Amino acid sequence: MIEGLRETILKSATEGQDMLSVIVGQEDAKKKILASLLAGHHVLIEGPPGVGKTTLAKHLAAALPAISAVKDCPYHCNPEAPVCPQCKAKKAAGTKLEGITIRGEQRFVRLQGSPDLTAEDLLGDIDPTQAFKFGPQDYRAFIPGKLLKGNRGVVFFDELNRVTEKLQNALLQVLEEGLATIGPYDVDYPADFVMIATMNPRERAGVEELSDVLLDRFDVVKMSYPETAEREKEILLKHGLKMDNVNVPDNVTDSIVSLVRATREEPWIKEMDQSASVRATLSLYEKVQAVALLEKRAEATVDDIRKMAASSLGSRLKPSPESKYYDSQLNLIEDLLESVLEGKRR
Ligand SMILES: [Zn+2]
Repeated sequence: MIEGLRETILKSATEGQDMLSVIVGQEDAKKKILASLLAGHHVLIEGPPGVGKTTLAKHLAAALPAISAVKDCPYHCNPEAPVCPQCKAKKAAGTKLEGITIRGEQRFVRLQGSPDLTAEDLLGDIDPTQAFKFGPQDYRAFIPGKLLKGNRGVVFFDELNRVTEKLQNALLQVLEEGLATIGPYDVDYPADFVMIATMNPRERAGVEELSDVLLDRFDVVKMSYPETAEREKEILLKHGLKMDNVNVPDNVTDSIVSLVRATREEPWIKEMDQSASVRATLSLYEKVQAVALLEKRAEATVDDIRKMAASSLGSRLKPSPESKYYDSQLNLIEDLLESVLEGKRR
């Protein structure tokens, strides 16, 4: 358990605060995530893009207390009990390890899952030239990996299901043993972090199955698109960029929300899981203001939605091959918008 995590969660619960208030709604998911973390488990959040997974993890780290860590150590080693090769070597040589203060938001590292990510990227590697010069056990031969930069903090692993099976196995060892082993070398050191990983819910190109043994190391929590249009509007008003000198009337905001939500219910795209995320709602909200400004108007209109919808939504929507919209996302967007504006959809 990383320092201060349990205390931070318990304190905010005791005080009746929502420490994840940055995420609007999703009460059930937030409670499950906090319960898992309090129990000392890693969390895998399953949900579509744009529902606030990154924001949630960052916010959680920022709530953590400051800690003392060795100056210039990428692993935030505790000066009293260093773990990385560099600090251990310095300590063994009798050098005093100078401590600096690391704030909560610095106790965060983000990893992007991709098929190109290697075990060396994640855990670190040995530089052959330096190893030849000083020996493979020497800290000077060591190239730090990204995962260990999250030592004593939150490791956010986005799209974990896009990494190779080989990498999953490397990660499994760290999660199981709390120890990272560097390739073929007999160099390992403890890694203490809490992992918040994400995966997209449906199969897409380039997605690996997560192995059962790896899944077993996580509590899986589902997050979804905002539960209601009201919630989504609340997110829009909270996080959307508000430009000076442009008013966005309620009916325009409502139509934006309804349009994006309509794409999620659209049968031709629903199965593809390419429907528009909250980012599309935000993007459209910002663009109707921008176009009003460019046209020197003080108010955004429904017509601005018509002008900007394609550029905010077009690339996100992939109609299925059987659909009459297969080659014409634009017609799909226009038809959806018309039905929203005519009030056929809510
Ligand atoms: Zn260190």
